[in-house]
Amino acid sequence: MSTTTDRTADLQARLERVRHRMAAAAEGRGEAELIVVTKYFPASDVALLAGLGVRNVGENKAQEAEAKAAALAGSDLRWHFIGQLQTNKAKSVVRYASAVHSVDRLGLVAALGKAVAAENRRRTEAGDAQRGPLDCFLQLDLRRGEDLDPGRGGARPAEMLELADAVAADPGLSLSGLMAVAPLGEDPAAAFARLQDLSAELTSRYPRAAGISAGMSRDLEAAMAHGATHLRIGSDVLGPRPAVG
Ligand SMILES: *Cc1c(COP(=O)(O)O)cnc(C)c1O
Repeated sequence: MSTTTDRTADLQARLERVRHRMAAAAEGRGEAELIVVTKYFPASDVALLAGLGVRNVGENKAQEAEAKAAALAGSDLRWHFIGQLQTNKAKSVVRYASAVHSVDRLGLVAALGKAVAAENRRRTEAGDAQRGPLDCFLQLDLRRGEDLDPGRGGARPAEMLELADAVAADPGLSLSGLMAVAPLGEDPAAAFARLQDLSAELTSRYPRAAGISAGMSRDLEAAMAHGATHLRIGSDVLGPRPAVG
């Protein structure tokens, strides 16, 4: 078998295992959307995944995401940006991304809103169709305690409604819901239960912002048990990440 055939078979087997876990965890609740996190893996893997029926992919670094989206231009993949995002990268992200899952501060909301408007002016001048509103998930920091270093891993839950109001007020942005990563050193189910409570608080003000982006390879079952609508799965589909640096 060629290397490509081997890799396709490998990805297909892993993808099937993840889809089985998702179906088992759904237990009659609604199915969640699978976002395959392809960070550190080559664009060739993304192409193979698209051939295997994957529609949603996630990336966490602006440069890497931009290069892969360009390499896969013309595919009908939806790109989800899931990593820490600097405001000066907003312009490049809105060229290819359908969604940003890491909206964690007012400055980033403003930068993304401006970038969508600028992107649509650019498209109009080029004679291209407008892009749709950017789906925004507010990333919350679910850690408890005092030793939090702000600015990494999301906004504080107390900032949620202020961020939501800013997203909702921007015509280029669409408020999708919440995103979080389960903190280390705690049962993920307990953290995802807090996220589900916060989601209830958000949807009481914004009923359509019912998305919950939660669950990675190690904790997808716990996330689905607590209402996750979007799972971000990397290593269990792609295999161990290649060493970096
Ligand atoms: C890498 C990453 C994932 C996927 O993690 P796996 O453990 O490989 O499934 C999900 N969410 C975020 C924010 C990530 O950076």
